Amino acid sequence: MTFQDLQLREEILKAIQDLGFQQPTEIQQKAIPELISEGSSDFVGLAQTGTGKTAAFGLPMLHLMDTEDRKVQAVILSPTRELGIQIAAELKNFAKYLPGVQVCAVYGGASIEGQMREIRQGANIIVATPGRLLDILERGKIDLSQVKYLVLDEADEMLNMGFKDALDDILRHTPKEKRTWLFSATMPQEVRRIAKNYMTDPLEVVIGKQNSGNKNIEHQYVVVRQSDRYEALKRLLDYYPDIFGLIFCRTKIETQEVADKLIKDGYNAEALHGDLSQAQRDLVMKRFRQHSLQILVATDVAARGIDVNDISHVMHYMIPDDIEVYTHRSGRTGRAGKTGISIAILTPRDERRVREIENQIKQQMQRIQPPKGQDICEKQLLHLVARVAEKEASAGMDTFLPNAYEKLQDFTKEELIQKFLSFEFERFLNYYENAQDLSNSAEDSSRRREPRGADTGFTRFFLNIGALDGANKGSLLKFLCDTTGLRSNSVGRIDLMKGFSFFEVPEADCDTVLSSLKNSDFEGKRVSVEVSKPRKDEGGGGGGFRKSSGGGGSRYSGGGNSDRRDSDRRDSGRRKRF
Ligand code: ADP
Ligand code: MG
Repeated sequence: MTFQDLQLREEILKAIQDLGFQQPTEIQQKAIPELISEGSSDFVGLAQTGTGKTAAFGLPMLHLMDTEDRKVQAVILSPTRELGIQIAAELKNFAKYLPGVQVCAVYGGASIEGQMREIRQGANIIVATPGRLLDILERGKIDLSQVKYLVLDEADEMLNMGFKDALDDILRHTPKEKRTWLFSATMPQEVRRIAKNYMTDPLEVVIGKQNSGNKNIEHQYVVVRQSDRYEALKRLLDYYPDIFGLIFCRTKIETQEVADKLIKDGYNAEALHGDLSQAQRDLVMKRFRQHSLQILVATDVAARGIDVNDISHVMHYMIPDDIEVYTHRSGRTGRAGKTGISIAILTPRDERRVREIENQIKQQMQRIQPPKGQDICEKQLLHLVARVAEKEASAGMDTFLPNAYEKLQDFTKEELIQKFLSFEFERFLNYYENAQDLSNSAEDSSRRREPRGADTGFTRFFLNIGALDGANKGSLLKFLCDTTGLRSNSVGRIDLMKGFSFFEVPEADCDTVLSSLKNSDFEGKRVSVEVSKPRKDEGGGGGGFRKSSGGGGSRYSGGGNSDRRDSDRRDSGRRKRF
C-alpha cells in the first residue's frame, strides 16, 4: 500500500514525499482510512513505540482541517514537553504545504506569554502537555469550545505520570461532539477506563501483540558480581565502539555517578536527570540528538521524553523494580524499523527476574558473557583501522610530507601500519592485557566473604549483628526491610560474619537507614550501625585509559567536533606528542 492509496489531499502527499516516507506503516495503514472517513467514530490505536503513530493521527487530522478557520480545531495531549515539541515539529513538516494550518506547542518550562500570544494569533492545532494547557485554560486564554479532534498520545505514559485529574479537567472544557483518538503502546486498566469514560464506541486497532516486545530489539543480559557492575558496563561500551547509547540507572544519584565516572574515564557521556535545570537538560538532549554526545546516562523519569530514533543500545545499569519500565526503557531502541540491542547488567541475585521480563516482553533474553579483553581489543583495532581507511587526508599537509617520507622511508608498509596504529591502540592493549574475565567471577561471588568496598551508588554499613546472634542473610534482610521500610530488592549485598555483618543500601537511603536502625533491637540485642565505607573508588585496574588517549580519540567517532571536552583532549594529546 502506498500513501497515494490512502486518498490524502495533495498538499499532504507532497509533504510526505519530501520527508522521504516510502510506505505507510501498519498502524498508519489501519488508522488513516478509518480516521478520514466521514461519520467514523472514536478511535483507539495500540502499537509499539517507533511505529509512526504521530503520522497515523497527524495526517488524517490535517486532511480534515478547515484551513480557513483560525479557531482551535485540534488538541493533541502529550505526556512530556520533549514529545510535545517533537509532535509539533512533525505536524509542521506534514503541514508544510497547508499555509492555513498553524501548529502551536504548549508546555511548561517556557514562557507562557509567548504561547498565549501564538494561540491568540490563530493557532488552530495545539500540541500540549496537560499541566500547561490547564494553566492557560484557567487564565481564560484559550477557547476549546470549537475543538473537533482530540488526541491522547501515549495515553499510558500520561496516566503513569499522574495526569489523570488534569485530563479530566481538560476534557470537560471540550465539546461533546468531537472525535477523540487515543494512541498508546500499552493498554493498562486506567487507559481502558479513560477510553470507556470519554469515548463513544471507539474502534480499537491493535498492531502486533499487545505488550509484546518490539521484534527489532535483541534482549541480552550479563551476570557479574555487584562490584563488577561498572567494569562490565565499560567493557560493553568498549566492545561497541560505534555505540549511540542510553544507559538507565535507578536513582538520580546513581545516574550522576555513573556519568561522572564515564566522563572521568574518557567516554563521551553525560547525565540526564531531574536535578538538572531545564536549560541543562535541553542542552544535553540537543547534543545527544546531534550525536555529538555518544552516551546518555538517564533516570527513567528523565528519559520519558526521549524520542531519538537511532539509539543503537539501551543498557540497564540497574534493572528496574517494575517490569513495565523495562519495556519502556528497551523500547527506546529498535525504533522506526531499525534494530537495536538491550543489555541488562545483572548480579546473580537479579537473575531470577529474567523470567519475569521474558514473560512481559514475550521474547527470550539471551545470556551473553561480558566481553573479554581480547575480544574488545580486536573490535577496537578493527574499528580504528576502518576509521583510518575512511579518513580524508588533511589538505595543507603536503609541504611537510617530504620530510616525513624521508624519515620513515626505511620501514616497510607493515611496520608503518603497526607503528601508527600503536599510537592509538597501545593503551587498549595495556589496559586489557591483564584484565580478568568477569564472567567467571560472578558465580563465586557468593563464596567471597572478605569485607570489601561498596558498589557504585551504594553505601556500605557495619552492623553489630552476626551469625552468632542467630542471624542469617534472610533474617537480616527481613530485619532491615521491616525496620527501615526499604524494599528487599533495594538492599544490596549482605556479608554475614560471625560477630557482625555488612550490608549495602543505595546512597540516597543512607540517612533513613541510620536513623531507623539507631534505636532498634535484633532478637533482643541492641543494634549498633555505622557507615563502613561510603563507596569504593572503583579503579577497575586503572580505568582512566581513555582519558589520556590523545589525538584521534577512538570514542569520538560521532562527529563530535562541537564537543568542547573532546577537542580539548585532542589538543592536549597533540601537544604531548609533538
Ligand atoms: P511512535 O509515536 O509510534 O512512537 P513516531 O510517530 O514518533 O512513532 O515515528 C517514529 C519515526 O518514524 C519518526 O521519526 C517518523 O518520522 C518516522 N516515520 C513515521 N512514519 C513513517 C513512514 N511511513 N515511513 C518512514 N518513516 C516514518
Ligand atoms: Mg509517539
